[in-house]
Amino acid sequence: MNELYLNGAFVAPEQARISVMDRGFLFGDGVYEVIPAYAGRPLREREHLQRLDNSLKGIGLAPPLSPPEWSLIFQRLLSSTPKADQALYLQVTRGVAPNRDHRFPSQPVPTVLAMTKPMKPRDLAVAERGVEAVTRDDIRWLRCDIKATALLAAVLLRQSAEEAGAEEAILVRDGLALEGSTSNLFIVREGRLVTPPKGPLLLAGITRDLVLELADVAGIPHVERNIEIQELRRADEVWISSSTREVMPVTRLDGALVGSGQPGPLWQRIDRCYQDFKADLRRAAA
Ligand code: PMP
Repeated sequence: MNELYLNGAFVAPEQARISVMDRGFLFGDGVYEVIPAYAGRPLREREHLQRLDNSLKGIGLAPPLSPPEWSLIFQRLLSSTPKADQALYLQVTRGVAPNRDHRFPSQPVPTVLAMTKPMKPRDLAVAERGVEAVTRDDIRWLRCDIKATALLAAVLLRQSAEEAGAEEAILVRDGLALEGSTSNLFIVREGRLVTPPKGPLLLAGITRDLVLELADVAGIPHVERNIEIQELRRADEVWISSSTREVMPVTRLDGALVGSGQPGPLWQRIDRCYQDFKADLRRAAA
């Protein structure tokens, strides 16, 4: 495996060491980001780093590195396989907790990690048939806008979807469908794209924002408003979006067909825009 970045040094993964007293390990006291990179070019790097700063602010931790410092790290990590599509993973924790004390250390020394993993090529079966999703009660906390490493609820929800033979769990709180366990949610109703507004109950997805921008350019009407569970069930199209899964059409929900049961026409359009956007990024790298 390629080298990774840990606390100022580039090291082989087998050589990377953190303390068992790290608060990330003991409490899940940390935040993270995942940035897709195509042919060595991170997609929406500035926006991802801005969200990392927001997450750090949300947990009261100062940014350990500036955007140009992060950029240099990304370039070095990505340069080992410059033509490949890779996902950058960054994590910042509040460092070591002496005596496993919950209270913040007065002068935290954050643990800073960055590494890459190969991104799976697009699965053509998904574009042809779409994926299945199930709905689940949202058992997460009330600060889902913080991209926290404490992911136990998301892990349980995603596993529950997996065990039901589904790709994703769509999370419902107080009758509203908010997002997936690892993705944002869109529906299409009468030719209009709908996605829930940003707020503390969901993660402000970078792909979500890009989809709305692409919809704008393509002249697809869209609105940010709440989606009631009944409306989700009656939607003509349902999509999920995330950095590593792009925009996926959901064609079965809780065992019932979504619309015609095929990836819909608006999904086809937005997917084309998304693929063109990626191709431009790759061309800029050449
Ligand atoms: N919501 C949740 C809960 C997620 O984990 C993710 C994936 N990180 C997303 C939405 C999508 O965010 P992005 O488009 O920035 O990957």
